[in-house]
Amino acid sequence: MDLTKLDTQEHGSPYAEQLRRGYSNLRFMPALEKDFREFYIAQNLPRARLSGLIALVLVLAITSIDLVFGTPATGKLNALRLGVLCPLLLLLAAAISLPMARRYYTEIVSVGVTLVGFVVTYITHAAALAGASYVLAGLVLVVLFGCLFLGLLFNVAMGVAALLISAHFVSGLVVGLPLDVLSYMAAILGAAAVIGGIATYNLEYALRTNFLETRQLNELAERDGMTGLYNRRIFDDYIHRIWRQSRRDDVSVAIVFVDIDFFKIFNDLYGHQAGDDCLKKVANCIARGAKRPFDFSARYGGEEFVLVLYGPPDDYARNIPEQIRHDVLDLAIPHAGSQAAKIVTVSVGLSMARPNSTRSLVGAIQMADEALYQAKREGRNRVICKDSEDSDVETGNFRVVNRDLR
Ligand code: GH3
Ligand code: MG
Ligand code: MG
Repeated sequence: MDLTKLDTQEHGSPYAEQLRRGYSNLRFMPALEKDFREFYIAQNLPRARLSGLIALVLVLAITSIDLVFGTPATGKLNALRLGVLCPLLLLLAAAISLPMARRYYTEIVSVGVTLVGFVVTYITHAAALAGASYVLAGLVLVVLFGCLFLGLLFNVAMGVAALLISAHFVSGLVVGLPLDVLSYMAAILGAAAVIGGIATYNLEYALRTNFLETRQLNELAERDGMTGLYNRRIFDDYIHRIWRQSRRDDVSVAIVFVDIDFFKIFNDLYGHQAGDDCLKKVANCIARGAKRPFDFSARYGGEEFVLVLYGPPDDYARNIPEQIRHDVLDLAIPHAGSQAAKIVTVSVGLSMARPNSTRSLVGAIQMADEALYQAKREGRNRVICKDSEDSDVETGNFRVVNRDLR
């Protein structure tokens, strides 16, 4: 779980939205595209390293065929293969293995394939002039390798293929190859690009689908289905991490519990569906309290929510719970059975755990629980704050036995 990504708590998944909108043009909305490219490169990098070496072995194999069967004219091409092409392939394989390859993968591979393509074009033309047009097969392999094995995105692969076919045609004209031979070669290369293109498109489309569905599943596993807030499991994970982080950074953590008042009676009076609608609206008020990076809100269970504020200034930590309480009042959801008001209200308990306090995480949560209990006892629809520096705070009196604190 990436903590920095937990600050946006809007309901509605961007992955589901992208699946709904479609992506037959092989492009996601900007917020997802960058993530996808990283995922795509991570998927392709190991295979691309291997492909570089396979290409090298292939060139060496073709060179040995020419050594055995070739004419003196084609034999000269071996010098080019061994002296230029092999070092270029080695360089490409080395570049892909550098740590920075992750960032510049597309640039490295597309430039690499283009350079290899230019060298092979030169070899192909020299061979054709010497009467060995079959060497064209080498260029077909470059196009297919670029498309299929190096994991270029479809658009990039097609750009590289178009560049190579044009380079082949133009340079063929310059060196004086007959137009019929050139056109034939270009048609074969075009067919290779179409076959490679269809396969690349399907591959990229399938990977995009896989990316969206996996991310969506992960997200579903982290969220409470009704409110869209993070669920209890994620809260437990997060609070342990953030607690350790706060001790290292020497900053305070505020834990805020929010509980709807007389909610059982609300359900009895208005029905379970109205109860669910009310829960969703209150959850939105809590989510709005997590405004800064590292602040975090979750559904703790039932009609109880939790908000964690990381390193909040004192006024801020005290204002946010009040703001939540007011936001819930502003919803003005009628609640005839409430003894606190005739609308839905919440009680809020805040515990401020200072960095120098000896209190444990369990103690800090107990303190927030106690604050909530006190808010209930004192009439509900109010905020009670407790500070680890106060000497009179007791802990462990309120429902601690029911809490799974690990
Ligand atoms: P208090 O003011 O002391 O908090 O009283 P309360 O009635 O809110 O507290 P209690 O814990 O007795 O009741 C909580 C109720 O919340 C019981 C349950 O019916 C309701 N509830 C819990 N989860 C859901 C839910 O997902 N949907 C609905 N509609 N109700 C829920
Ligand atoms: Mg309640
Ligand atoms: Mg409750």
